[in-house]
Amino acid sequence: MNNIAVFPGSFDPITTGHESIIKRALPLFDKIIVAIGKNQNKKSFFPLEKRKQWIEQVFAPYKRVEVVVYECLTVDLCKKMKARYILRGLRTSADFEFERSIGQINKQMHRSIETVFLLTTPELTALNSSIVRDIYRNGGDVSRFVPKGVDIKM
Ligand code: ADP
Repeated sequence: MNNIAVFPGSFDPITTGHESIIKRALPLFDKIIVAIGKNQNKKSFFPLEKRKQWIEQVFAPYKRVEVVVYECLTVDLCKKMKARYILRGLRTSADFEFERSIGQINKQMHRSIETVFLLTTPELTALNSSIVRDIYRNGGDVSRFVPKGVDIKM
């Protein structure tokens, strides 16, 4: 298995935007490791176990998708998993500026790891986990913004 990609994020919670990037990237890689970052400085809203379960549920039929939790640098996770690629989605120019610095610093740390970006499909550009959390907090219906079958509940 040569082309392994790590798709890092908080997935708090997984949205149809994340799902779309993973499914579109599947033909490009032998395996995609969805990596949920445990960030000491950023408190998550949904419990880690739930975030992991939801992603596992969505990709249960996809044997080439694996879900892990990590606490180290993304490039160190890549080395550990023998992944040569980091996969990220690009929604806006703000995403680009943010991703550019991380991608370039990652490249300085590990020359052999490439970051690969997929542009969001237009209809998913406005979607992010923080909007989904806001709708949920205020009692709205989030089902259309998260993958089919995922029941978002604390
Ligand atoms: P982070 O905490 O690193 O921002 P997220 O969980 O928000 O992580 O996102 C993980 C990845 O998914 C990022 O590359 C982000 O750009 C991408 N992503 C998030 N929402 C969307 C979307 N609606 N369409 C495409 N990509 C998205």
